[in-house]
Amino acid sequence: APRKLAAGNWKMNGDLAALAEIDLICEAHPEPGCEVLICPPAVLIHPMKGRVGSHAIVLGGQDCHANASGAHTGDISAAQLKDIGADYVILGHSERRADHGETDADVAAKAVAAHGAGLTAIICVGETEAQRDAGETLAVIGAQLAGSLPDRVNAANTVIAYEPVWAIGTGRTPTDQQIAEVHAFMREELGARFSDAGEMRLLYGGSVKPGNAAEIFTIAHVDGALVGGASLKAADFGGIIAAL
Ligand code: 13P
Repeated sequence: APRKLAAGNWKMNGDLAALAEIDLICEAHPEPGCEVLICPPAVLIHPMKGRVGSHAIVLGGQDCHANASGAHTGDISAAQLKDIGADYVILGHSERRADHGETDADVAAKAVAAHGAGLTAIICVGETEAQRDAGETLAVIGAQLAGSLPDRVNAANTVIAYEPVWAIGTGRTPTDQQIAEVHAFMREELGARFSDAGEMRLLYGGSVKPGNAAEIFTIAHVDGALVGGASLKAADFGGIIAAL
């Protein structure tokens, strides 16, 4: 089975003072039993890398541009993320898809750039509440996987995160059966396209907390979590790391 991953997405939160949380995680979890990843705002990656020191925590960005360089004011390339110490990049988060109009094709192009720079891409998919209510969940996830994953995806360069839009930041989570259904479906879809899909890590994200993490991690084909709000404080994120 693939190595479990506890991934924190700080979104647009945190500052230099918040790096104290990194010290606390390193102290409390000197040798975590899972891979621990934090994706802070891009401006914090370099100082956070210094704070992590020799600890095993790895870092990632929250987006990258599809091009390697050039006249794209305000954007950041995959190679720039790699250069300052990132090993991962989150792509196609529902907030990017909603706030910046990112399409599946955009996400696929960014994934090609991420892979080219040596970053592991965490590609996010997930249905809205209206889509779930309409019985479209698996069709939506299938289409997002088909459109957002370039052909060069493999278990080493890509992680998939299932994040139902209605579970993000709401305190609501799907039932265990709903998570199991989507994760089993994703494993099958990926298996039809990628030969090492059995080794690919599939994360669940959306209102994961220390209190529900252990149960979520018992669900088949859940290989870790992508955590928003509960990744900001060492006490909360530490509880999730311990549950893996
Ligand atoms: P919350 O954990 O705050 O619900 O956010 C989930 C998420 O969007 C992680 O990428």
